[in-house]
Amino acid sequence: MDCIFCKIANKEIPSTIVYEDEDIIAFNDVNPEAPVHILVIPKKHIASLEAAQPEDAQLLGKILLTIQHIAREQGIAADGYRVVNNCGELGGQTVHHMHFHLLGGREMLWPAG
Ligand code: AMP
Repeated sequence: MDCIFCKIANKEIPSTIVYEDEDIIAFNDVNPEAPVHILVIPKKHIASLEAAQPEDAQLLGKILLTIQHIAREQGIAADGYRVVNNCGELGGQTVHHMHFHLLGGREMLWPAG
């Protein structure tokens, strides 16, 4: 499958990995929008949040708790951070392997554009 995030998960293309376990990998976004901008993905290919299935419930919960863990490790948990999932065309998703953006280190604006 020609999926850039699967290739990152398989170490076929380089990335700056900040966290990894048997199910999840997290790496710095190549085009950071904040001092901390990390992408957290399942190693399993799930095209988008819309494509997730009931059997992925445990994995989805683990991803959120992993984001909490990474935010603490990165030193942004106390001040606060933002977690973003862009889903589908109108959601602004450009890479079709489900991923969660962890953004921190600056004040975030709302509403999102
Ligand atoms: P999205 O628009 O939500 O699909 O986000 C895709 C994100 O992946 C963007 O923030 C890109 O900067 C990021 N990205 C694309 N290719 C790479 C890569 N090879 N390594 C790290 N981040 C990437």
